[in-house]
Amino acid sequence: MTIKEKILVAEDEKNIAQFIAAVLSGQGYETVLARSGGEALSMISSHCPDLVILDLGLPDMDGLDVLARLRSWSSLPVVVVSARSHERDKVTALDAGADDYLTKPFGTAELLARVRTAIRHTRTASGNDEIARAGTCTVGELVIDYNRHQVLIRGENARLTLSEFRIVALLGKHIGKVLTYDTIIRELWGPRAGGGNQILRVNMANIRRKIEKNPAEPEYLFTEVGVGYRLSDGE
Ligand code: CA
Repeated sequence: MTIKEKILVAEDEKNIAQFIAAVLSGQGYETVLARSGGEALSMISSHCPDLVILDLGLPDMDGLDVLARLRSWSSLPVVVVSARSHERDKVTALDAGADDYLTKPFGTAELLARVRTAIRHTRTASGNDEIARAGTCTVGELVIDYNRHQVLIRGENARLTLSEFRIVALLGKHIGKVLTYDTIIRELWGPRAGGGNQILRVNMANIRRKIEKNPAEPEYLFTEVGVGYRLSDGE
């Protein structure tokens, strides 16, 4: 098996760190372990990992502070893992620059899917460039056509309004990643948009009616309750 990307795991709980390392090594990833925030920051500089898995509850400093320090000089992808399951904590981590968020306990498949998604985003540089060149983004039977400003579902034009298209287009540029409500609203309606949540919810309900076979059990557009939305990457 060839060595794939190098992943730094910042986690002080030995059992969890070993579990994550075993799962990643089993898939050919090289892993390095850090047991504190300070150690993680210095190892990021010295080991140049491709991805960081960051626990929020570290002994010397809060994981969010590690993230803030890291983001002052690096856009390295970070998947946060935490026992904090409150929606507010997920939103805070994502808005602070985390690429994704896993709530403990999590399974092997979920961990690997998040890691693959975060790494794919680095590989395509900004992610957006590749899509812009290709002009389309395809997930299952959903095709986002960035040139024609159309979404096709099962071969048919979904007839989205411009706002609806822009929401799907934005999620498509960050496929597989959860975008917080605030991020979507800021991107679409600007930093001073007020009362955007309600507009966003209404638009999402309309989009789901147009593209999902059963809007109550979406195949494409997932809600992370209290956090935001994610377009499935088909995994
Ligand atoms: Ca911990």
